[in-house]
Amino acid sequence: MNTDRIRDNLLAVRGRIAEAARRAGRDPAATTLVAVTKKRSVEMIRPLLEAGSLDLGENYPQELWEKVDALVDAPGPIRWHLIGHLQGNKARRTFPLVRTIHAVDSLKLLTTLDELAAEVADPPSVCLQVNTSAEEAKHGWRDAAVLDDAEAIAACSRIHVVGLMTMAGYGTDGETARPSFVRLRALRDDLVRRIGRPLPHLSMGMSNDYEAAVEEGATLVRVGSALFEGVEP
Ligand SMILES: *Cc1c(COP(=O)(O)O)cnc(C)c1O
Repeated sequence: MNTDRIRDNLLAVRGRIAEAARRAGRDPAATTLVAVTKKRSVEMIRPLLEAGSLDLGENYPQELWEKVDALVDAPGPIRWHLIGHLQGNKARRTFPLVRTIHAVDSLKLLTTLDELAAEVADPPSVCLQVNTSAEEAKHGWRDAAVLDDAEAIAACSRIHVVGLMTMAGYGTDGETARPSFVRLRALRDDLVRRIGRPLPHLSMGMSNDYEAAVEEGATLVRVGSALFEGVEP
């Protein structure tokens, strides 16, 4: 396995995030790179950690639990992000392990997490997933439907809702994905007005489109394949 290549990929992605931020007049430090490590071995993850990339994103709770165990000896405190769908019955075990749950995709799940948050010392923060691309297969509130639930969202005061998350349509690039990102930011601004609480985070942008996402205000980009390009497992 080519450790140097992973480090070079990481440096390139970081550089592109910084350039995109500068183009948009944003502070490059305002966007956190979440390295998406789903289906990657622990050996492939270690070079990222050694290069200081300590925010890791996993899609599947079970896989996340296993990797948390396998990486207890990591060279720094890993900040785990669950970026995939969470079933309510896996929440209790996942809660203490993660900093942020990105894809809370229904009011039902949010309510479950809110109840759980009342029972634990330091609950993770969450983003609400919004389907901005109108693709049937995607989870989440369907676009402006998230505004209709504003009151119920505001009532969930024990869980720390920090922002919105979206996935652009399949097969998009930065330019075709951009309207989704612009839309997510607008929905966030509307929701802030309705609930009267700040929602500082926008989790948007993946390998194909993260530069556009940064230009449009992403504070969390979820990048996987671009970090592992050219690397044999
Ligand atoms: C896999 C995944 C990513 C990363 O996608 P890449 O195209 O590999 O960068 C980001 N977000 C979610 C929700 C994912 O499932």
